Amino acid sequence: MQLITSITEMQQLADKTRNLGYKIGVVPTMGYLHEGHLSLIRLAKQNSDFVITTIFVNPTQFAPNEDFEQYPRDLNRDLAMCQAEEVDVVFAPETSAMYNSNFLTYVNVEKITSKLEGKFRPTHFRGVTTVVAKLFNITKPHIAVFGQKDAQQALVIKKMVKDLNFDIQILIGPTVRETDGLAMSSRNVYLKNDERKNATILYQSLKFAETEILNGETDIEKIKSTMEKMILEKKIFTIDYISFNDAETLDDLSIAHPNKSILISLAVRTGTVRLIDNIMVKR
Ligand code: AMP
Repeated sequence: MQLITSITEMQQLADKTRNLGYKIGVVPTMGYLHEGHLSLIRLAKQNSDFVITTIFVNPTQFAPNEDFEQYPRDLNRDLAMCQAEEVDVVFAPETSAMYNSNFLTYVNVEKITSKLEGKFRPTHFRGVTTVVAKLFNITKPHIAVFGQKDAQQALVIKKMVKDLNFDIQILIGPTVRETDGLAMSSRNVYLKNDERKNATILYQSLKFAETEILNGETDIEKIKSTMEKMILEKKIFTIDYISFNDAETLDDLSIAHPNKSILISLAVRTGTVRLIDNIMVKR
């Protein structure tokens, strides 16, 4: 496995790899890897010949009041995990190489970025699409793998790829969870013991909603208000949103129609930590 930090070196190796006829798969991450990331690396391996994992805590997707500085980092641990997964290249650039002092260009997907996460993090997706577009131009992949854990991000990236004609196939891997249901996240390390214990309510509330819909309940407000109660009963969470949206257009839904994929997503805060999770349901 090779560690590359230079953009030019990465581009040259990507060209060489393509010229040899190999299919490149990229897995963009912010590091502090966990089983969720590793599952995406495995999916990339199954669908390509040469896997690049990028590790870059991207400043432009954090607002000034967010946790960019505190975001957990451990490159050596990440490298060992990538090595064990037989990743071919880890691309881990310096911030100054990705964003020089003259940086002026951003990629912005409109409309679907202004709801859900975008409502609470207005500059977040602009940072995500900008860095992903850059990483695509640097790693030159045939396929790129993202996680369903960040469902809106997956939709936004697919839209960018379609609208800007990136010749890249986007694969989405399922959310990997701890045994008690909590979605794995690099940010889970911030959780104090009682917060970690109570965080299982998020997935439980999503599963409750799923069961209600599969049993024929169509009144979304009713389901939502029970979910709210379940979460607030724990006393340690505030809710940013619980939302039911069309899984493709992200249109808000008030009725659960059969044969329609519904994205049920939520974001909550406890202490200094913000957690998101989602589930896709179709009756
Ligand atoms: P991050 O390092 O948090 O930016 O995530 C990098 C990629 O891993 C994104 O495509 C995420 O959606 C994905 N990811 C994060 N957590 C999980 C998880 N628990 N299961 C599957 N994919 C995940």
